[in-house]
Order: sequence, then C-alpha cells, then structure tokens
Amino acid sequence: MAKFSINLKDGTIDNEQKKELIVGIDLGTTHSLIAYIKDGNPEMIKNHSSSDTLVPSIIHFAQNDQIVVGNDAKSKLIEAPEQTIFSIKRLMGKSYHDIEDFKKVLGYKIIDEDEDKLVKIQVDQKFYNPIELSAMILSQLKVNAEKELGQNINKVVITVPAYFNDAQRQATRDAGKLAGLEVLRIINEPTAASLAYELGTDRNQDKLIAVYDLGGGTFDISILRIENGIFEVLSTNGDTFLGGDDFDKSIFDKWSKELGGVPKNKSAIQELRLKSEEAKKELSFSDEFSCQFLGKTLTLSKSEFETITAPLINRTITHCKKAIIDAEITFSDITDVIMVGGSTRIPAVKNAVKTFFNQKAHDELNPDEVVALGAAIQADILAGNRKDMLLLDITPLSLGIETMGGLMDVIIPRNSKVPSAAARNYTTSVDGQANLRVSVFQGERDLISDNRKLGEFILNGIPPMPAGIPKIEIQFMIDADGILRVKAKENRSNVETEVEIKSQYGISEEDMALMLKDSIINAKDDMQKRGLIEAQTEAKNVIHSGQKFLKQNESILNIEEKATTLKMLNRLQSLVNQGTKDQIQSYMEEFNEYTSPLAHRAMDVNIGESLKGKSI
Ligand code: ADP
Ligand code: MG
Repeated sequence: MAKFSINLKDGTIDNEQKKELIVGIDLGTTHSLIAYIKDGNPEMIKNHSSSDTLVPSIIHFAQNDQIVVGNDAKSKLIEAPEQTIFSIKRLMGKSYHDIEDFKKVLGYKIIDEDEDKLVKIQVDQKFYNPIELSAMILSQLKVNAEKELGQNINKVVITVPAYFNDAQRQATRDAGKLAGLEVLRIINEPTAASLAYELGTDRNQDKLIAVYDLGGGTFDISILRIENGIFEVLSTNGDTFLGGDDFDKSIFDKWSKELGGVPKNKSAIQELRLKSEEAKKELSFSDEFSCQFLGKTLTLSKSEFETITAPLINRTITHCKKAIIDAEITFSDITDVIMVGGSTRIPAVKNAVKTFFNQKAHDELNPDEVVALGAAIQADILAGNRKDMLLLDITPLSLGIETMGGLMDVIIPRNSKVPSAAARNYTTSVDGQANLRVSVFQGERDLISDNRKLGEFILNGIPPMPAGIPKIEIQFMIDADGILRVKAKENRSNVETEVEIKSQYGISEEDMALMLKDSIINAKDDMQKRGLIEAQTEAKNVIHSGQKFLKQNESILNIEEKATTLKMLNRLQSLVNQGTKDQIQSYMEEFNEYTSPLAHRAMDVNIGESLKGKSI
C-alpha cells in the first residue's frame, strides 16, 4: 500500500515515504564533523554552541560529573589538564605497549596495568577506555545533528584513516554502538574525500587519485584507484606525528628565542602557542603578522614562516614518494590530487604539492570538511538514494604465521585487496609429529615477537609420518568485512581445521552492553584492585625486612619475642595471599606496633656496639 504524508507548512504532499536519514561522521584527531544530504547535496551540521562546523575532539570531565565535549572542553586544556582528554583517536585499538613512546605528550593519566590489553585513561576516580571516550564525542555530534535537523539520528557512516588496522576499525565501530548509533559502514578518509569531489561517481571514468591529508597532528598520503565505480586503496603512507601543531611549534620556537627563552608560566606558554597558531592561519591569507605579547611586539613575515617550516613540508613530500613506490604506479598516471585537512590551507603546502605532482590539486571545498561531506555521500549511497557503488579495501598490515625460530612467514602481504585468499605449504620438523600449532600474526617485522598476535589454533591428528613428509596447507581468507579465517589441512590424510580469527581487541555485543553499565562499578573495582596490589607489595617488603631483622638480632630478642614476631610474619604472609586490602593494612599496623619497641632496643644496642667498635 502506498503511503502519503502531508507537509503541514506548505501543504504539499509527499507521495514517497520519508527516507530515513543517514549521516556521515569524520571522527578526527583534533576535530570531528558531521554532515548529511540535503536536497541531494552534502551539507555540514553546525556545532550547537557556535556557527562552527568543527567540533574539537576534546572531552572535559567537570567537577559536577558533567561531561563537556567540544569548544567548551578545549578551554579547559590549560586549567584542568588531568580532566581534559584530547587526541583520543591516537589511542583507538591500541595496547599500552603500542603507545609507550608518546604517552608523555598527553596531559592526562594512562593506566599501564596490563601491557597487552586496551589502554585505559584515569580521570579522578574513574577509568575510561578510548572506545567510551570516542563514544562521548559521537554522542555530542548526534545531539548536535538532532537539534539542527529536528529528527532522530540512528544510522551513521564513520570515516577512519586508510591505514587503520582491524583493531582500530573495530574500536571505532564499537564507539558508534556505545553512542547508540548503528554504524552502517566504516570507510576510509581518502575514499570519502574523493566522493566529496564526486570522483568515481561516473562509472565510465577511471581515476588514479592522490589524497594529501595534513591535519592538526597527523599526515596521511593515500593513492586510490577507481575503476567501474570500485574504489581501491593502492597504498598509504604518512607520519602520525606530523601536522599543523608542528607548524605552530616552529613559530613558537622562533619567538621564544627572540624573547630570550620559553615563557615562564603555563598560561603564558599557552598564550604564545595560541598566538603562533593565529599567526600561521593569518599568513595563509596575508604577508605579515604582528601581535602583542607581554608588552612586546612579535612579528612574522610569510617568507620567514616559509623558511622555518620548509623541512616539515619536505617530510610530507618524502612520504608521497614512498606511497607512489608502494602503489606500483606510474607517476604521470595520477589523474587527480585532493587536498584534505586544515593545514593544506597553507600556500607553501599547496605549492609544494602542485610542484611535486606536477598538477593543481583540488582545493575548492573546505579542506577540513571534505571527509565528512564524502561520508554523507556514502551514507546517501547506502540509503539507496544513489546508484550503487562498491568500496574495496586493502589489508593495512601483512598477515602470516610463526615458523621455526620465531620467524614471521607472510601469507597475505600488506596492501592486498580485500576480499582475498592465499595459501602456503608447510611440513613437520619431528618424526611422527601428530599436532601442529598455527599461530597467526599481523605486522611487518621479521620476528613474530615484534608483530601483533591475532590468535592461534592446533591442527590435530596428523597420521604418523617421518619429519618433512606431511604436506600441510595453510590457507588465509579475508572476507569483505575484513574478517580473517585460517584453514590448516594435511593433504596426504585430509585432516583439517578451520578457525575464524577475531581481533583480540574486539568487543562482543554482550561486553558492549555491560560496558556502559559497569563503567562506574568497574572504576571503583579497579581502584580497589590497585589498592590491594599496593598493600600486598608493601606487606611483602615488611615481611622481608622483618625476617632480616629476626636473623640479625637473634641475640637481642628473647624466646617469646622471637616466636611472636615469627608468628605475626606468618600471619601477614597468609593475609598477603588471601586477605583484603584493609586486613593487610591493619595487620601491618599491628605488626609495626609490636615490633617497633623491639626495633628501638635493637637500634640502641647496635649503636652502642658500633660506638664500642670505634673506641677500640
Ligand atoms: P584533524 O584531521 O587532525 O582533526 P583538521 O583537518 O581539522 O585536523 O586540521 C586542523 C589543523 O588545521 C590545525 O593545526 C589548524 O591550525 C590548521 N588550520 C586551520 N586553518 C588554517 C589556516 N587558515 N592556515 C593554516 N592552518 C590552518
Ligand atoms: Mg582529518
């Protein structure tokens, strides 16, 4: 049955049922944006508190338990650094081990209890993982969109960098779920940027595109091929610590030198940093910048700016060269170059890119909005409003298994198309070997210990044969959703096993549901666990010194004292094994109370002895 709906404002009748709106989200390191399709064209949704489309990806936990996201949170970065979380995207799908190198630059607390688990961030008494924090940003974007559009938003497309691995993509998807959103698809940022420029929407045109993305803290270059409306990422390269912030830093350093050193206090440092960013932005449009800072005039000309930042721009070009080599393409076949990220507004960046690629890059759209606009177009495609297009992904890292000596044997190399399958043959190393352990790893290093373990399984029941005779085929298959399955088969006997390898960082539906509810309880629990471990460690030290004390002061203590001390040490040891934090602590106090007069006595005697020693 056909449905009609009447627009009460203008009295027109829609004979088509109103299509559900799907929005596109660019969940960025420094800014996040949301866009939708209005009358067939992508349009940005504004930040509810300003006319800005950019929402800073910053979360502040206020005193009154309120969670503030965006511009209002940004202003808290200096005031309350421990309660203000930024750059959360850098932590997505990462273990503590992965981020050891850069956790220092983050002003908030990262917990390092378990090196192999997802990192956690501590804010006051509570603990959050990056998925929950990203969910808070997504929730804010959802609220903004619902306010502006006056309708519920439930379905989204979210973009991620092309180099994001399975764990990072899964984490992004989970963040969406946690924010109450149905994530219809995760798409690559460069793919979204191409869509925003309507590249690849015409099926008869093949394209080879370079997407140059210089954001706030990261640089990515991706080479894409579009054939028959199919997008394929040929290669990616870049630097996760090279972006607009480094341009600000160059100015900051220059001015600090002129001022005779870095400013003394935190707020002056922050002010100078903000002035540096202001100068950078203004020099994108004018030739001179000047400002007042602590009663002095600071100036910077465009040519000075270009001199001090040339090394940064050169570094991006080096990455472009590498990406082209990896993509195995002919340089002159590149049909389009796209500029993405706020920092591509810098004229010197535009010039360098134009010179290197020998063509003018697309910069007609707002460079910080292109990704979100493209995500909205993808959402529109999924909503069935555009002719269908396929998006093909690549594996960002090599996949393989462990072989003798802890070596990585690659089965599916990085940058392979997805879906894909590949197999290799192996054999046994011991006579009569009945089982073979297959350990699956992801990464580019030769030793598996440097790569990431995805899982392992055992092929059982290989019939007895001399070493080297069994023919064991190991097959890797990645489906369109990026899920890896591994099959091992002994070809002489047809014994086989197949497993689905799930990322160890993935979160199940049930876990997800529990997570929100448990986050507060867990925070308490985590604190308690930590407290218990601390008490246990302290008690172990007490036991150790107690035992030493007994040994060293045999002659000073009487039989009863020795027996009681020993008994108390044993009791403390059993509390360390199975007592609570409070039990351990109160017993430690009891022990100290009992032993301190003994210790005093021992000290007196020992001092007397040593004095005696001296007088000889
Ligand atoms: P991300 O993708 O990392 O979230 P964006 O694409 O939003 O980042 O880019 C943010 C960066 O762009 C910041 O470093 C900002 O200073 C810079 N930027 C914004 N406008 C300009 C401009 N006019 N000139 C130079 N840099 C700019
Ligand atoms: Mg970006």
